[in-house]
Parts: sequence; C-alpha cells; structure tokens
Amino acid sequence: MSSARKDTDLVMVVTSDMAGQLRGKAMPLRARDHRSVIGVGWTPTNALITAFGPIATGHWGALGDLMLQPDFSTMIDIHIPDYQVDECFVIGNVLTLAGDPWDCCLRGQLMSAIDALREKHGLVLTAAFEHEFHYSGCQEQPGLGYSLRARRRLGAFPDRLSDVIDRCGLVPDTFMPEYGPGQCEFTIEPNNALRAADDAVVLREMTRSVARGLDARASFTPMMDPAGVGNGVHVHFSLQDINGAQVNYDSHRPHGLSQIAGSFLAGMLKLMPEYLCLTAPSVASYMRLVPYRWSAAYNNLGIQDREAGIRICPVFQGGTQDDTEDKFHFEYRAADAAASPYLVLAALIRAGTAGLDAALDAPEATRTDLTMIDADELSAMNIERLPLSLESALQRFATSAWAAEAFGETLVDTYLRHKRCEIAVMQDLSDEEICLKYAAAY
Ligand code: GLU
Ligand code: MG
Repeated sequence: MSSARKDTDLVMVVTSDMAGQLRGKAMPLRARDHRSVIGVGWTPTNALITAFGPIATGHWGALGDLMLQPDFSTMIDIHIPDYQVDECFVIGNVLTLAGDPWDCCLRGQLMSAIDALREKHGLVLTAAFEHEFHYSGCQEQPGLGYSLRARRRLGAFPDRLSDVIDRCGLVPDTFMPEYGPGQCEFTIEPNNALRAADDAVVLREMTRSVARGLDARASFTPMMDPAGVGNGVHVHFSLQDINGAQVNYDSHRPHGLSQIAGSFLAGMLKLMPEYLCLTAPSVASYMRLVPYRWSAAYNNLGIQDREAGIRICPVFQGGTQDDTEDKFHFEYRAADAAASPYLVLAALIRAGTAGLDAALDAPEATRTDLTMIDADELSAMNIERLPLSLESALQRFATSAWAAEAFGETLVDTYLRHKRCEIAVMQDLSDEEICLKYAAAY
C-alpha cells in the first residue's frame, strides 16, 4: 500500500471485457488478504454490457454468480498531485464459484492459450503493443505530423505520460506526434504475453488519466472521423523456447524466417479472417482496415510493408555486433484498442499454435500492392481480402470450427450476441456519427 493511502481507501478490482472496457468493483485496501482469496462478486451478464450502454440479450439474465479475484502482482497505486493523477486498481481473473476460470474471462482465455503453446510446443510468446490515440488538449493543424512543432503543442502531456508509465513499472520506448492532427503514438518495451496484455491495459488507462489531469481527453477509438487517419494497435511479437532462447530467425531460410516461426505465422495468417472480429471488434474498425490507410486489408505477410496483415519488422544491421537473432520479430497490424488486449493475444497465440500443430509451411512474403491482384490470383497465394465489416467478420467467427474449439462455445456465443447488439446500436447512424460514438466510448 502506498504510504499516502488509508486502509479504508478503495482499490478497484477490474477485468478487461469484450467491450474493451475495464469494469469491476472496489474494496477497502485493508481487505486485501481476504479478498485475494475470495475475490469480489461478479455477474455473468456483465459480459454482455456494450461500450454504449445497451446490454445484449443472453442466456443468464439476472441469474448466476462469479468471483472476480484480484491478481495483486498487477496492482497500480499511483498518486501524483502535481499531475492530478490518482489511480488505485488491480487486474483480476473471473472465476466460477468452484474456482475454475470462467469461459468469458478474457485474461483466463489468454492464460489458457499461453499454457497450450508451452505444453504442446515448448514455446512462449513475448509481445509489445504499439498504441496510437488522439489527444484533445492541443491546437490541431494538419501537416504537422511527426513535427517538433506538434510535439511542442502537446505541452507537458508526453513527459508526464512517460513519467507515469515508468512509475507503473512499464518501460517507455518511444513517443511520437503521429501523422493525424492530435494523434500520438506511444510504445513500451516487450514483456511476456500475459504481462504485455496487462501493460496494454495500464498504458491505456494511464494515458486517459494523464490527459484528464490536463483537462483534456485521450481517445483510443479506431477512427476519430471517417475521413481521418486510423488509430491502430500494432502488436509486436516473437517466440522463445522455455529457456528464453529466440527461435524466430534462421539465416538459411527465406526472409530469415525459422521453420517454427514460419508455421506459427502461417496459422495466424490462415485463420486471420476467422478471428479478425476479436482484434478489430468495432463497427468503426472496418473504416480503418482498408487499403492505403497503412493499416491492414489482407491476411498477407509483408517485409517492411506497413499495409501487411503481418509484417516482418526491420533490423538495423549497421551496429558493432550482429544482433539480428535477438531483434528479429513480427508485427500484427489488424488490431485496435476497442479490443481487449487479452483477447487479441489469445487469438494470435491460438491461431499460431494451430499452425504449429499442422506443421504448416512458412508463408511467402508479398512485395506488391495487393489491390492490383485479382481474387483468384490472391487465393492461389493463400491470401484474401479481410472481411469488410464487423458483421461479416462475426460471420466468419460464428462458422469457424477452429474458433469454437479454441475459445469454447460459451465465449463464441456471448461474443456474437454482444457484438451484434453493438451493431444494432450503430444501425441508423452515419459514418460520422458512428465515429463520434466510438471516440466518446474509447
Ligand atoms: N495509423 C495507422 C493504423 O491505423 C498506422 C500508421 C503506422 O504507424 O504505420 O494502423
Ligand atoms: Mg503509428
């Protein structure tokens, strides 16, 4: 406990849900030991609360009880009066009353995907989320992307954010005034998959908190407006064996892609249309995933290509020693921050594991504008245009035998209900109105 807090002060136990929101219940700090075991009460129907208020109809209604058990290794307790930042929360796992992981606990889904990858293939995944977002507290002007002038207009915000992130135990990597007016990008150092998802949650909340302390707002919506640039979440990742040794690079194979990484990526690419609705989970997400937006529109592997579904990231080879093997990694580009980071990583790991199970051949990398190639030729290259809307992405998920097996039918059914309710909320709105709603919700 921070010395500044009384033992009656409240710590909020939170879970990252299908709406990409953190919801939970607070308890006095003095109940920490007791609640570490029994958790706080939770309700199944909470999984059906959309980011806009309406609750999707489900099978639970008012029935059922769960426990939200805090994992105190994730605790954030930070109070900086100068920044008006005061946060005390802990991330939890949703369990059944028997103490088992609940099917719709997304952190539990990630933990089980991590276990399967380790048990079946002796591998672990390390990841870092690269976040883009919109900061409202500066004077916006088109044309100032990446400029020192844009950085200056952001005032105290970037330094405060870097400080707060660091005090939370995350390691700041880079900050950039991104291309769009008011758009920023912040990256942190990688972590093991579970911690990387925890870090993504913390980064989003702290960004919002620091902005609020400056009487501004940070929005992680995938699209601020239909004519503007998207806010992506690019997931950087690599594989290690259980001793921590890198297994991604093989200088003798095409593009340096090891056999293991090749099969893992092939699984991710093949199944991408089936899990896209988990990583790009909003109606607005599909305004972003179109060609020429530097996001991702196909399930292709690209080298140094900022429009590929998955990109092999560049490695600087001009240093004094060759550390290609350490630095060699990949980037999944079809995600955004309307998604729970736990579900994003669970999907990527499950799909990659399926590729390893089937010992799929490594994918060929593309080096061309895929919009110029017709669908048959793309199909011969094992590439397809990603679903064009949330509803078509949900249909692919709904009919995926792999998804039912990987996540269980309860999660699939609950997710479909939740997201179809969200689509109904957006039904009669213009693209501009949809973007406004998502900008407020995220
Ligand atoms: N804003 C782009 C997106 O929506 C990404 C730009 C970049 O950082 O490459 O993913
Ligand atoms: Mg960027």
